[in-house]
Amino acid sequence: MADSQFPAAPTLLYPARERVVTESPRDFTAELNAEQAAAARHVDGPLLIIAGAGTGKTRTLVYRVAHLIDRGVRPERILLLTFTRRAAHEMLTRAERLVGSASTRVNGGTFHATGHRLLRQFGPEAGLARDFSIMDQGDAEDLMQLARGALGYGKQEKRFPKKETLHYIYSRHLNTERAIEEILEAEYPQFVEFTADIVRIFAEYTSRKSERNLVDYDDLLLFWALMLEQSNAIADRIAGAYDHILIDEYQDTNLLQARILRGMCRTHRNITVVGDDAQSVYSFRGASFRNILDFPKQFSPAQIVTLEQNYRSTQPILDATNTLISRALERFSKQLWTQRTGTEAPWLVTTRDEQQQTRFVVDRILELHEEGTPLHEIAVLVRAGYMSADLEIELTNRNIPFEKWGGLKFLEAAHVKDVLAFLRVLENPRDEVSWYRILMLMPGIGDVTARAVMQSMAERSWDPDAFSHFVPPPRARDAHRALAGLLRELLASHADEPNVGEDIDRIRALYDAVLAERYDRSEPRLADLDQLRTIASGYPGRAAFLAALALEPPSNTQDLAGGSESDDDALVISTVHSAKGKEWDAVFVIWAVDGWFPSSRSLGDEEQLEEERRLMYVAMTRARNHLAVTYPLNVYATRRGQDYSIDQLTRFIDRGVRDKMQRVVPQDSESLAPEVAAPSAGPSLDLRALLRGRWAPGPK
Ligand code: ATP
Ligand code: MG
Repeated sequence: MADSQFPAAPTLLYPARERVVTESPRDFTAELNAEQAAAARHVDGPLLIIAGAGTGKTRTLVYRVAHLIDRGVRPERILLLTFTRRAAHEMLTRAERLVGSASTRVNGGTFHATGHRLLRQFGPEAGLARDFSIMDQGDAEDLMQLARGALGYGKQEKRFPKKETLHYIYSRHLNTERAIEEILEAEYPQFVEFTADIVRIFAEYTSRKSERNLVDYDDLLLFWALMLEQSNAIADRIAGAYDHILIDEYQDTNLLQARILRGMCRTHRNITVVGDDAQSVYSFRGASFRNILDFPKQFSPAQIVTLEQNYRSTQPILDATNTLISRALERFSKQLWTQRTGTEAPWLVTTRDEQQQTRFVVDRILELHEEGTPLHEIAVLVRAGYMSADLEIELTNRNIPFEKWGGLKFLEAAHVKDVLAFLRVLENPRDEVSWYRILMLMPGIGDVTARAVMQSMAERSWDPDAFSHFVPPPRARDAHRALAGLLRELLASHADEPNVGEDIDRIRALYDAVLAERYDRSEPRLADLDQLRTIASGYPGRAAFLAALALEPPSNTQDLAGGSESDDDALVISTVHSAKGKEWDAVFVIWAVDGWFPSSRSLGDEEQLEEERRLMYVAMTRARNHLAVTYPLNVYATRRGQDYSIDQLTRFIDRGVRDKMQRVVPQDSESLAPEVAAPSAGPSLDLRALLRGRWAPGPK
């Protein structure tokens, strides 16, 4: 139509412009308070929001993302770093409600996932082969063991650090930038004499990683930092890809992460960090709340925003948690207040033993549920995953659905790792750790043969056929034939479309028998493998599947299947660490027993005790309306190896905190005396009258 109405004119190409809106079209005042709104609208330059639990830090960050997009910043040029993938997903979903689908283009995720993405993209330019495999912590420890063995430290007479300890020291060194010797002196004085040996093992570990094209978790951060620091050309491209960087839970980042951020801010200084020093709970992974306290120095001049109004919890809950954290030795002081009045002081529940604790929690959950609280608005928090075992059994018996976060991960289960090892050698034939795992599964193959096999494969440069050329000792012949057959089949299938689900079926044709041989109860494990297969088929290929698993080890199978929230209404059982940043209408903190929470391992060390206190603070500040802290008095057959012990309430709930709580002692229906009815208005029976009547004259 238009063509016929207007004479043909030369087409003028008008360059597309970025949308620039100088003033925010959105009015935040109804949704944010003045300080939050100012932070959300902060224009450019470093910004620090340091504030207590539930003051809307995360919410402010979401609005800030929305505001930046409103202002015309391109969403793909925003990097939002969070502690878990789940957190990033939730924040971007909320931002989407504010500014629409543009927010889905924001780069959101964890530091490790972002490091991984950048390494796949820029690694080849920095000397890293593109098809590297990521090792999780367990794999890294196994490789440390191989390095230790190869240097002859396998059968040490004297006490020598174990693979887990070696890996811990190594990782600590990288993440905290402290010298090995210093770490040993502080944490393992008994191993100081081995400093030189330990350094040799680390060197061996590092060269094995590079020969086998393996990358560990720490490398994902370290290589990212190095690309920013060692090559201007690469650094310009990485840092130049973003105009704004925002980080939640900054108190749980480490020095290496702070280094990365400095590198990312080489061309601009638009960095916003948000956190609470009183909730720093990851020092065991090298995090330091110094990062947040030092932010104004490192990114100067920084605008600092503090928030003191809590929007999450009722005043009685805040009274208790404020008192609890006021005992911390070192903190950036803040006294939280709220307009959310409430009459219910948090409950401090003493039970006779674990069984009674379980019964109390389940009964109370059902009661809350009947009163209208959905199950997913209720959480039970534990210091360590195993502490909910009794509760899980009872919930299962009573058909109450629950999800578990944290604790033992599905992927850490040995049989799941076994199957994944097969997939991993297909993906990276040089993956020594996975080869060793597979070989040790096979009947007739032990450590000596396994090492010989790997040696012979290394001599053939790990070519895909290398295994079948190995000449096995007679005992291992059957195993060798079976395994070689499987590998051939898998490699052949791989020629066309790789299908992970089908690969898993082929692997199971061999592995299910191994599994049945190794475990007494194989059914639930086989069911796990069925689950793994279902999940795998949701991924486009083997590499994508393996990378997803290694990067964000799911805490439950639902997580793994992609849905972060389940559709069914289910209660949440979570470790306190995994509950960070979340909130529920009702929260139970169970096993508030000294030696359990704080954990007995922290008792001798002031810094660790302080961290446990912050962890208790994180736990109790998750509750909106109902909070119950429970502890059993007697423990039979304790996990600490005694037959019986009488427990003490956690030291963190001291007299002052107790004064802000109400004591609750559950009544036990079995041991209770028969209920005595309250007197009614008049006696229902008149014994005297009965007796009198008996002798009264009357008709016989
Ligand atoms: P944490 O320290 O536990 O991570 P946080 O400071 O990140 O907490 P948020 O989770 O952002 O706090 O907010 C806590 C709760 O308060 C959320 O439900 C949030 O929606 C609500 N909230 C925060 N600010 C406001 C506000 N201005 N108006 C209404 N609700 C708010
Ligand atoms: Mg938060």
